[in-house]
Amino acid sequence: MKSILIVGAGFAGAVHARCLAEAGYRVQVIDQRPHIAGNVYDYVDDNGMRVHAYGPHLFHTKNTEVADWIRQFGVFVPYTHKVRARLPDGQFAPMPINLDTVNMVFGTDFTDAAQVAAHLARVALPIAEPANAAEHLYSKIGRDLTDLFFRPYTKKMWVLDLEDMSAAVVKRIPLRSDRTDTYFADDELQMMPRDGYTALFQALFDHPAIAISLSTAFDKAMLAGYDFCFNAMPIDAYFDFAEGELPYRSIRFHHATSDDTAQPGWCTTNYTDTGKLTRATRWDALPHHVVRETGRRTITAEEPCDYRDNAMERYYPVKTADGRYQAIYDRYRALAEAQAARIAFIGRCGTYQYLDMDQVINQSLAHVRRWLARQ
Ligand SMILES: Cc1cc2nc3c(=O)[nH]c(=O)nc-3n(C[C@H](O)[C@H](O)[C@H](O)COP(=O)(O)OP(=O)(O)OC[C@H]3O[C@@H](n4cnc5c(N)ncnc54)[C@H](O)[C@@H]3O)c2cc1C
Repeated sequence: MKSILIVGAGFAGAVHARCLAEAGYRVQVIDQRPHIAGNVYDYVDDNGMRVHAYGPHLFHTKNTEVADWIRQFGVFVPYTHKVRARLPDGQFAPMPINLDTVNMVFGTDFTDAAQVAAHLARVALPIAEPANAAEHLYSKIGRDLTDLFFRPYTKKMWVLDLEDMSAAVVKRIPLRSDRTDTYFADDELQMMPRDGYTALFQALFDHPAIAISLSTAFDKAMLAGYDFCFNAMPIDAYFDFAEGELPYRSIRFHHATSDDTAQPGWCTTNYTDTGKLTRATRWDALPHHVVRETGRRTITAEEPCDYRDNAMERYYPVKTADGRYQAIYDRYRALAEAQAARIAFIGRCGTYQYLDMDQVINQSLAHVRRWLARQ
């Protein structure tokens, strides 16, 4: 029986591990953290709340194959995510921008989508070919909405001005002219694992051919003991940063306890001010997240930072308008291709791209099935 080493017990590693085990391979999974589930790891805190250790993870997808595959490993319950942005006057406006957001910001009383679309067309700037994120947003919603909702948030999140960001980063932010106030309205499948992500991963790894070693960092000497390695570690670290560093933004999480158990009707509040925090999450808005009723609620605020200021926790690859980090990544990918007979880089940090959970599952299923077909 061939044996495979998998570095990383997050979604990329888990999907590979499960498929390989089911195909008859012996699989050893290692992770340097003391827990499984990678960045989607959750736990129940002293307030009885289920908290996602690395920020709120909402499962949403259009891909029914991915949804059906992951549902084999746990019960999922419907959940529709809602976000509000706190305005300077204390109001909470729906995000993404919709009809009510426009009314709150401009003091208008539009009642239908056509009025909003006409208003946005009036305030939008005539930029035919936007060269960066600022120009893209100005060309869609004008200066007021851009500078209120996106400029300070982007500066806090990326330490970049919108002018220095690729338009691609903001292109995926939806804009609505009706009253739709759900965050992922375009994804038909929005759901959460009823018993949490950690339990889901326990089921994913529950196979006699899978062994897991936690608190175990990858070492190149390990490769000699296996026929192949799927590796979700940062690709620049694997190559000892020979081509330069691939930077990431990270987040420090600040947990607070509230005695106010009245749910406001949304989960995440975005901050539009220029302070350090970008957003806060009320865990009680998520289904089955009040695991034990204590009369207390946990609210977690997020403070973006450089990954070097947060124990090298790599969350978001940095995308710039000039693509300089993508060029570094391309050089690492070329180095990796030269070793393709014994190692493949997978997942977010292995491929230096921001991927939602459904995308990681989808890519991993396709990748491991292609690999298996070649054996
Ligand atoms: C703040 C935040 C919020 C998010 N919210 C959502 C959301 O709402 N919806 C959504 O779909 N997606 C969300 N995502 C994306 C989601 O987290 C990723 O899609 C998913 O976790 C990627 O899985 P992965 O296996 O590629 O990486 P990870 O989950 O990061 O797993 C990689 C694992 O490799 C381990 N590792 C790294 N280096 C080594 C080494 N040298 N030796 C041993 N182990 C190593 C790490 O410890 C880690 O556990 C969010 C991401 C972040 C950062």
